Amino acid sequence: MATKIIIWMIAGFLLGSLINTFAFDVAFIQDYLVYGLFHIVGTIFINLLKMLVVPLVTFSLICGVCGIGDVKKLGRVGIKAFCLFLLTTTLAISLALLVSVTINPGKDFHLAPNAQTEFVAPEPPLITQVFIDLVPSNPVTAFAEGNMLQIIFFTILFAICLLMIGKRGRSLIDGAEKLNEVMMQVVSVVMSIAPYGVFAIMTKTFALQGIDLILPMIGYFGIVILVLFCHVTGTLMLLLKFFGRISPIQFLKKMRTAQIFAFSTSSSNATIPVTLRTVEKRMGVDNSTASFVVPFGATINMDGTAIMQGVATVFIANIYGIELGLTGYLTVIGMSVLASIGTAGVPGVGLIMLAMVFDQLGLPVEGIALIMGVDRVLDMMRTAVNVTGDAVITMIVARSENNVSMEIFNDQDAGTLTH
Ligand code: ASP
Repeated sequence: MATKIIIWMIAGFLLGSLINTFAFDVAFIQDYLVYGLFHIVGTIFINLLKMLVVPLVTFSLICGVCGIGDVKKLGRVGIKAFCLFLLTTTLAISLALLVSVTINPGKDFHLAPNAQTEFVAPEPPLITQVFIDLVPSNPVTAFAEGNMLQIIFFTILFAICLLMIGKRGRSLIDGAEKLNEVMMQVVSVVMSIAPYGVFAIMTKTFALQGIDLILPMIGYFGIVILVLFCHVTGTLMLLLKFFGRISPIQFLKKMRTAQIFAFSTSSSNATIPVTLRTVEKRMGVDNSTASFVVPFGATINMDGTAIMQGVATVFIANIYGIELGLTGYLTVIGMSVLASIGTAGVPGVGLIMLAMVFDQLGLPVEGIALIMGVDRVLDMMRTAVNVTGDAVITMIVARSENNVSMEIFNDQDAGTLTH
């Protein structure tokens, strides 16, 4: 399946780039293909994925909490996951700062006097508000809006109370288990059309974006990719090897499909169904850990986004000739970690968070306009890294709780769609 998706993804990239270079102005292609067929198929596919998120997380989380059956263990899993999320995001941003300060991108870049500065910073979330917003004043609104942290909060409380009423809650737990199974089946059905959805999204994205936009920003772009790559293959895999005691190669092989979904949708949230399916069915993580840590991570853990922010900060500071100093770097680390906790995993959110970091540092927020051109492609890459980070932590926490079936993990074919 993963190979088929990769082939369609590359085909989409090539076709999109060709359209952008040679045929974008042809009215037929623009109206009927880019904004027509590819737009429709791509949007339907993303909607299908998003459609699964709320019911899947809810049923899966009820099963997970009831499967753990013990509030103490739940707290332990939560604290472990939270600390590991903080650790990996901090390591990610520190690595990004270290590499960028060494290479110093944008040092010789001279800003044109009338450089385009159209970035209007959206209102960044206040940190205190992030904590207040954890508790929904109306759970129906939280579910309707897909507010992941509020949904997690309400569902965990609900499931704990279900456990507290003892035997009388049994039939409801059984029902949630069956519904969860059905939702997993829906995920498999949706994934069977994934290659075409991914093809449509890639074609439209690159037809609109083109690859030439990347060229002027090649230094910034290259460093972000370099650090993303080092973080996944270095930091995350080392943590997986030492704390999770499992083979990074096998893990990466099994992660491929989820990474492709993250890459093409640019949304950790929309990828939750695929990540959940991957860690449970392909890697053998028990639902009791996966159902909680995966959606939690999709919301609060964004290593890839933090990396982009670290590099972007150094790049923009260099362009504007602003000295950041040690306090500045420490502020970037703190702000990026907090920003990644407080925002959802949806496309483009990284730029909004960056506005928050710049604001705090006193860097010109309009500077973001300079990197917006390449952000679409970087968003795809960093989302794949964000999702990989979520799965790594799920694996480490599950291993520490003895919640992984190594038989499934080592079975190359476990959970593939053809089985
Ligand atoms: N698109 C990213 C995600 O969903 C967030 C971002 O960096 O914009 O994880």
